Amino acid sequence: RPVVAVVGRPNVGKSTLVNRVLGRREAVVQDTPGVTRDRVSYDAEWSGREFVLVDTGGWASDATGMAAQIAEQAEIAIQLADAVIFVVDATVGVTDEDEAVVQVLRRSRKPVLLVANKVDDPRREADAAAMWRLGLGEPYSVSALHGRGSGDMLDALLAKLPEEGSAEADEPGGPRRVAIVGKPNVGKSSLLNKLAGQTRSVVSDVSGTTVDPVDELVEIGGVPYRLIDTAGIRKRVKEASGSEYYAWLRTQAAIERAECCVVVVDASEPVSEQDLKILSGVEEAGKALVIAYNKWDLTDEERRRYLTREIERDLGVWAWAPHVNISALTGRNVDKLAKAIDAALEGWETRVSTGQLNSFLGRVVASHPHPVRGGKQPRILFGTQAHVGPPTFALFTSGQMDAQYVRFIERRLREEFGFIGTPVHIEVRARA
Ligand code: GDP
Repeated sequence: RPVVAVVGRPNVGKSTLVNRVLGRREAVVQDTPGVTRDRVSYDAEWSGREFVLVDTGGWASDATGMAAQIAEQAEIAIQLADAVIFVVDATVGVTDEDEAVVQVLRRSRKPVLLVANKVDDPRREADAAAMWRLGLGEPYSVSALHGRGSGDMLDALLAKLPEEGSAEADEPGGPRRVAIVGKPNVGKSSLLNKLAGQTRSVVSDVSGTTVDPVDELVEIGGVPYRLIDTAGIRKRVKEASGSEYYAWLRTQAAIERAECCVVVVDASEPVSEQDLKILSGVEEAGKALVIAYNKWDLTDEERRRYLTREIERDLGVWAWAPHVNISALTGRNVDKLAKAIDAALEGWETRVSTGQLNSFLGRVVASHPHPVRGGKQPRILFGTQAHVGPPTFALFTSGQMDAQYVRFIERRLREEFGFIGTPVHIEVRARA
């Protein structure tokens, strides 16, 4: 799915526009200064085409350093998105901050859709037309609040998206897209340097493969992979206010573009909230997952014993993800990441035939039927795998299923078919 970033200065209506596109009130609506939030990417669809919307508006500053923050926001969006929606406020006109974003947008080769928001009334169309002077092509006038013009805008957006299937220019059998993510100081850049250091010559040998400057081809255990957003890993995070938000934005965008995410955790320190947040982000995005416990060289017998307990307690929900104990410093086990990534991607792309699935469901339901609810017995009538990457199952049922029962089915699916390293999605379609 192509990634579309929504950029623009605070208060132009980015989140309202995102909500409008999603057709629900999911994103936070206000560009309230100081608001931070975890969720920045959303699954969207228009005319049968699926894409991911990244709302960059979750953090707004006080006036100081605004220009720098907007530039950062635009830079991340441009580097990691396939297309950009640039939102301006037609009632305010072009500001210096808008101009700053335009500079960044123009230098990029990413397709840009210019949206003049807050045109609630046809009489304000002239204000939108004035946005032609930004030099970004036709301004699409919309009222994100009332929905005016949003259909035309989305049609124009689809026309700017890369052709289906070619979004990342992946040839079949080409390098897989892998993101190395993790909180600051866990050793991401050390790992990248270790990988790149071993394989620099190989990287330049892979010819005819187009790679964004933010990505890099590296070899792990003899297999080439395309690492997403290595520019972001190499760049030292500035200690500016809001940098944490931008790091998170960047992480989310990298996760969206990847097929498999290697979440790096510092094995020498207690597992933290931030680690869990990143792991959840990978799972929610439906990507293949590998956990790398880094700085293994710093762990002693006691720490390892304690870590095992922490993993059981806090990371139990991701027990399906392969893990590798590595040291980016010494290079220990770094090669083994390849095997783990491949196993996770294989699980991610597993396809279960409808026959196999229904005979499995028949057996499970016979031995563990759904509890009776309100005098009725909800039943699974039929199941089919709707998607791979991640495996997504549609269950057609009579009556609603308890969440607990759906989780039970997921556990049994994993026991039966493996699904190593991948989230498993189950969509229940209850017949009335
Ligand atoms: P990033 O912020 O995740 O990119 O982390 P860095 O790669 O910059 O590493 C943070 C610090 O941890 C640096 O001082 C590294 O030298 C150190 N470090 C990274 N990996 C290891 C490792 O495997 N073992 C040890 N002992 N130190 C490491």
